[in-house]
Amino acid sequence: MSPKIKFTKIFIDNQWVDAVSGKSFETFNPHNGSIIANVSEGDKEDIDAAVQAAKRAFHRKSVWRLTSPSRRAELLYKFAALVQRDLEYLAHLETYNNGMIIRNSRRFVKLAVDYIKYNASLADKVHGKTMPIGGLFSYTVKQPVGVCGIILPWNVPLLVFAGKVASALAAGCTVIVKPAEQSPLTSLALAALLAEAGAPPGVVNVVPGYGETAGDALAHHLDVAMISFAGSLEVGKLIQQAAGANNLKRVALELGGKSPLVIMNDADLNIAVPFAALGVFTHQGQICIAASRLYVQSGVYNEFVKRAVEFAQSLTHGDPSDEDTQYGPQIDELLTTHILKCIDSGKLEGAKLLTGGKRINSTGFYIEPTVFADVTDEMTIAKEEIFGPVQSILKFETLEEVIDRANATNYGLAAGIFTTSLENAMQFSTHIEAGMVWVNTYLEFRPDVPFGGFKDSGIGRENGTDGVDIFLEVKTVTMALSKDF
Ligand code: NAD
Repeated sequence: MSPKIKFTKIFIDNQWVDAVSGKSFETFNPHNGSIIANVSEGDKEDIDAAVQAAKRAFHRKSVWRLTSPSRRAELLYKFAALVQRDLEYLAHLETYNNGMIIRNSRRFVKLAVDYIKYNASLADKVHGKTMPIGGLFSYTVKQPVGVCGIILPWNVPLLVFAGKVASALAAGCTVIVKPAEQSPLTSLALAALLAEAGAPPGVVNVVPGYGETAGDALAHHLDVAMISFAGSLEVGKLIQQAAGANNLKRVALELGGKSPLVIMNDADLNIAVPFAALGVFTHQGQICIAASRLYVQSGVYNEFVKRAVEFAQSLTHGDPSDEDTQYGPQIDELLTTHILKCIDSGKLEGAKLLTGGKRINSTGFYIEPTVFADVTDEMTIAKEEIFGPVQSILKFETLEEVIDRANATNYGLAAGIFTTSLENAMQFSTHIEAGMVWVNTYLEFRPDVPFGGFKDSGIGRENGTDGVDIFLEVKTVTMALSKDF
């Protein structure tokens, strides 16, 4: 059954309002392309109203910034409990609006609860340092950055909302969230839960709308002190430019990747094959940490490729809200066309297509799980972030060689290795240029472990204590002690 859609308006000062322009946009179910709601389309004026509300909530005496950390933690714990209460509803809403298979949506809502609780636990542990030097005494205090803009991607909106918003609130910031135009519904549902948990008006505001209008207005706004963004490299660069255009905003950027996963001759293939498939077919490849370059050592290459094809062919597609579905749709026609073009380029450039490669004949935006072997480093499918279900398998001979090849990219988000040798694992994790490295596992993320990338994959870290730190300024106070001292 389709989940009931309760919230489609803009959320400012704990009120649901229409867009100033009166406009709205359609949002879809990727399973069959049907329109599921009309959502208010925020633009510059709506962003300005939301920023003013967040500014009042931040600056007004005795409001959010000065609320005791224990009270902030209490709000976040209540929020976590409400997300847990509505787990089934939220998971189905996420699936309905972005096509994630229901068992993953459920897993991500549970993870979101953990993210919120973890951030709640940090709210009252924001400490400075003391530095007594001669006749002077210095100490530091950490204070919230201020009004923050949070711009979300469509692929995992609920989890990214939970992580970023909970960190910002734990730090004492107030926020304006701009969800992606493709999947705004769970962000609006979370806003309602924050209000129910007791968030004061203006502390969290959510303005759905398009990137070029609402997103751009937020990134340029003079009263916004920081933008925390997750999305593509292309838009990440625009955010960085906008953040330096009027005032100098802090930016945290979680961007794309072309993450290498390495299978050594000594790896246990019973584990490596399913993890490699999970790494690239989870959410139909629409995850920033997708293992989209799979390097397999020559001694196990043929066997690995055979098993990888069998695994891809075993995945059953269907309505992502059905419990048994293992594999769902892409988000929309635009991305589907892009992925099919990438697949064509693989064929034209000489990669061996072993399975998949075609659109699945149904309504909605389905593409077969696709496996290419004999991929080489200069091919488009080995270089570009496809954001689709395409496993590109490349052959290598030595660890040294594969580390050099894996590092030859502008991205640096995640990387993995399957090996039974400690030395291989240590060499790889030391020399690989990536923000997150997995050994004999893949796609593991937790609230207490930093998440983010090197190079063009981003700036800053989410999660762990770093996730809250990025929303804090350090202030140094120096006092002269008595002159007789
Ligand atoms: P996107 O960059 O197209 O859009 C992201 C957000 O930016 C959306 O809300 C969009 O409306 C907004 N936006 C677009 N143009 C804008 C502009 N000019 N100014 C301000 N905002 C603007 O990305 P997407 O297609 O939603 O998501 C997919 C991308 O996100 C992939 O590259 C993926 O790797 C990346 N991603 C990264 C992480 C991470 O944590 N590293 C997490 C999820 C997704």
